[in-house]
Amino acid sequence: MGTLRLELTDPTMREWDATVLASSAEGIVLDRSAFYPGGGGQPPDEGVLLWGGVETRIVGARKTGDDVYLIAAEGDPVPPPATGVRGAIADERRSALMRTHSALHLLNGVVYRDFDLMVTSAGMEPLEARMDFDLPDVPAGFREQVQETCNAEIAADRQIVVRSMPRDDAFAIEQVARAARDLVPAHLTEVRIVEIEGLDVEADGGTHVASTKQIGRLDIVKVENKGKGFRRLRVRLS
Ligand SMILES: [Zn+2]
Repeated sequence: MGTLRLELTDPTMREWDATVLASSAEGIVLDRSAFYPGGGGQPPDEGVLLWGGVETRIVGARKTGDDVYLIAAEGDPVPPPATGVRGAIADERRSALMRTHSALHLLNGVVYRDFDLMVTSAGMEPLEARMDFDLPDVPAGFREQVQETCNAEIAADRQIVVRSMPRDDAFAIEQVARAARDLVPAHLTEVRIVEIEGLDVEADGGTHVASTKQIGRLDIVKVENKGKGFRRLRVRLS
């Protein structure tokens, strides 16, 4: 078994045909799916499955091994195994999450390059995100400078390229090695790399826009002090 992950090669796909492999209280497993199952701070997709005039609302997804489990809305009919379905992703939400995820990588690239900061944690909702890092003393004008630089990098319209790379080659990239050595499972021989050309390189499984201009306007609404040098940047897109 196992689900072919369509979103990993085509993040713009919103509708496709599939067959149900398994269906249980745990969720619905399709042979092919573009539902992002969550991970790397990006929440799972929502959407629908259509089959024989019936609609099953999908309110979430998660990955177990090679299977993506789709979570049906409570009370909705669930397609039995071998049913042919048409899957559809809630476009507005996913498109916003792609912009937001790419914005976090752009911000990561800027604070790494300009302040040598390593991000400790990040999370997002559509068009809103947080990024945590250690910075005992916040330089004067930090928020304004980071925000201005991010918007300049967005305007520069850098390409965002996704590719798979042998593990050793990926960890030969200093930024990847510093950020992800402990996060990439040891059994993986290939690492998926998301690169904002000339700015940021990360090991990452998420969905992204194709170039930085598609991120839109980025505002850093707050720099919070969570104690002991632990800072949290709050970001909003418009
Ligand atoms: Zn990411």
